[in-house]
Amino acid sequence: MRPIRVAIIGGGCGGISAAFELTRPEHRGKYAVTIYQLGWRLGGKGASGRGAANRIEEHGFHVWMGFYENAFRLIRECYAELKRDPKKCRIADWRDAFSAAPFIGISDGACTNLISYFPPAEALPGDGWSEHDPFEIGSYMARAADALRAMMLAASEQSGGKQTRQDDRDQAGVAETASAADPSPCLESNIVRLLKLGGLGTLAGLIEGAGVLQLIFARRVPYLGGLLERLLEAMAVAARRQIGLLVANDAVLRSLWLAVDLSLTSMLGMARFGLLSDPRGFDAINEYDFREWLKINGATSETLDSPLLRAFYDLAFAYENGDYNLPRQGAGVGLRAGMRMLFSYRGSMVWKMNAGMGDVVFAPMYEVLKRRGVFFEFFHRLENIRLANPGAPAPGERQYVAALDFDIQAEVTSGKEYQPLIDVDGLPCWPAKPDYEQLVDGERLAREEWRFESQSERRKGGTKTLSVGDDFDFVILAVGGGTIPYVCKELLKTDHRWRQMVERVKTVETQAVQLWLSEDLESLGWDYPPVVLCGFVQPFDSFADMRQLIREEKWRKPPGTIAYFLSTLKDSGAAGGHAEFDYPSKRGQQVRRNAINFLKTEIGKLWPKAVSHDGQFRWELLMDPAEELGCNHRKLGEMRFDSQFWRANVEPSERYVISVPGSQKYRISPLDNTYDNMTIAGDWTSNGMDCGCVEAAVISGRLAAHALSSIPALEEIFGYDHP
Ligand SMILES: Cc1cc2nc3c(=O)[nH]c(=O)nc-3n(C[C@H](O)[C@H](O)[C@H](O)COP(=O)(O)OP(=O)(O)OC[C@H]3O[C@@H](n4cnc5c(N)ncnc54)[C@H](O)[C@@H]3O)c2cc1C
Repeated sequence: MRPIRVAIIGGGCGGISAAFELTRPEHRGKYAVTIYQLGWRLGGKGASGRGAANRIEEHGFHVWMGFYENAFRLIRECYAELKRDPKKCRIADWRDAFSAAPFIGISDGACTNLISYFPPAEALPGDGWSEHDPFEIGSYMARAADALRAMMLAASEQSGGKQTRQDDRDQAGVAETASAADPSPCLESNIVRLLKLGGLGTLAGLIEGAGVLQLIFARRVPYLGGLLERLLEAMAVAARRQIGLLVANDAVLRSLWLAVDLSLTSMLGMARFGLLSDPRGFDAINEYDFREWLKINGATSETLDSPLLRAFYDLAFAYENGDYNLPRQGAGVGLRAGMRMLFSYRGSMVWKMNAGMGDVVFAPMYEVLKRRGVFFEFFHRLENIRLANPGAPAPGERQYVAALDFDIQAEVTSGKEYQPLIDVDGLPCWPAKPDYEQLVDGERLAREEWRFESQSERRKGGTKTLSVGDDFDFVILAVGGGTIPYVCKELLKTDHRWRQMVERVKTVETQAVQLWLSEDLESLGWDYPPVVLCGFVQPFDSFADMRQLIREEKWRKPPGTIAYFLSTLKDSGAAGGHAEFDYPSKRGQQVRRNAINFLKTEIGKLWPKAVSHDGQFRWELLMDPAEELGCNHRKLGEMRFDSQFWRANVEPSERYVISVPGSQKYRISPLDNTYDNMTIAGDWTSNGMDCGCVEAAVISGRLAAHALSSIPALEEIFGYDHP
């Protein structure tokens, strides 16, 4: 039987995951997949390239959370299938590719940075789940109760309340023994006792309350009526009093109590809004902004304005129009992501990659997919999806995709297949630029600086139209969400759901800077373990210490520090400006100015010894790869910044997908079958997580594969919250 020809457009996390699923050996070649990708590399927002002196250049730092069960599952399978020889390749196994990153920092934007250590959790991401479903609100509540009690004990210890600890053990012990046989009646009487007589007025009482919450959720006691809510309410009031009483001058204690308030308020809100029993789960509160929802549930103004909450928004670039005055994050999407991040991680809460994401994710995926027979058409830019009946389909007929129009950006010499990878000391990697030698007229294209990843680049080598029946049978549209208006004009004209999706599901520009410094961070006055830190100042609120890359980049004289900075980039306000040819370079210049200014005025707050006595940034710290390669024209002062790497992620497909309140219901699912021969994949779709992250895109790719082949089964798509 002839295989079903599947055209996947876009080779980011969504498209690649769909390809990986559809070409599994159990399909026995039923699907013949071709991936059409603009430019020379896979990866999309996660693409990276090796630049000067083989240094890694990214769109911004990418970390994988320990709850990314789908993403880790696929990448583990990919490495297992690849069977790289560890003697020949230093990244032969997924464990070589990822390192646990247990230190997370929150900055108050001034000089206080709180670094938390998240201990390893049982098992590893992607191991598969044998027992209960950890991605379920009751499980999150159980873990949240554990964490709450641990935080209270830590707060008690920090405030010198050793005695409380003993009291607590005694009281919780009583509760535990009393409730062992038939938990609910005893729990009820315990709660009533705590609620009466001011039982929660002391720290010991609060800790006991947290112990009772642990029992309720660990044993899934379902029928406590309004008692659970009353207990949480009373605990929240008591905990908020503690913030006022205890923490005025103690930053650590203060943040502990703010975290307690945040946890209790979230748990209370979840109980009040009935999320435990509402079939919509977290989605029931997506009309609210997360901060607004916390406020409704009584969070203190200190909690609402805390660096902790700001960091949460920073992490998700959750600022409409990239504007810091417009923090906007759908409460349900945010809470789900937060709960998963904190309470369902395995191994480490955060994992960093030991090379570029292109090197450790997309190169192995490319190799495995090639082996499985996937065909790659690089330098193919989709221009238009043509519908069979651009008006309305005849009665009883389903709408379908009739043709795909592409610009061929460049032809490969002698019609051969483009070979995209380079070898960096035994590791297959993506280069930061195309290999012009493989391209027809490559020298000219290089000289004229064709921008193959830019929407505003209109130069092309030719065009191609693929027709349904002749060239493809099924399409998976996996371009970035920001590209839809450019390539789906017919669809948007005829389908109001698509129009609404494009209008309501917002995206933002981001800016990223990477620095290579000759001294290590300790010498720069930053003596913390390798962190990912959020909540720092504008214009770069997030910082990742990427020292693990030093050994990978193979400098002759290795840098002491590799540091990545990242944040949103406020919209330029120029209507239609992004369609202008020089828009990306103008925005790139803006990022350069932002970064130089940041180094001049802000970096001293983070790295006090990176500035000299007169407060100037020590530009000589910046390492220039050109010097490494033997150029002896040494750049001086501020000009040294030009040897670093920065980028404005402003192309439509590069724009980060945010989850503003009320937008989630406008997303369309890969399972939607309005179009007979097309589905979609990417973090912008309705995928059960509905936020911009690798895991959401991978889930979406798996859903797209399911839509076509019924594999994987929906139950095997971990944490897919059925809408
Ligand atoms: C700066 C930044 C930092 C991030 N950090 C993290 C992080 O730490 N952790 C995390 O989990 N997530 C992070 N994300 C989000 C994550 O990168 C995305 O959620 C994920 O990569 C989205 O994958 P996708 O397949 O949906 O889309 P994309 O990655 O955008 O893939 C779309 C693909 O389509 C191609 N394409 C676009 N237009 C066309 C066209 N016309 N024709 C042909 N091909 C086309 C693109 O080149 C690309 O290959 C970050 C995103 C950004 C921007």
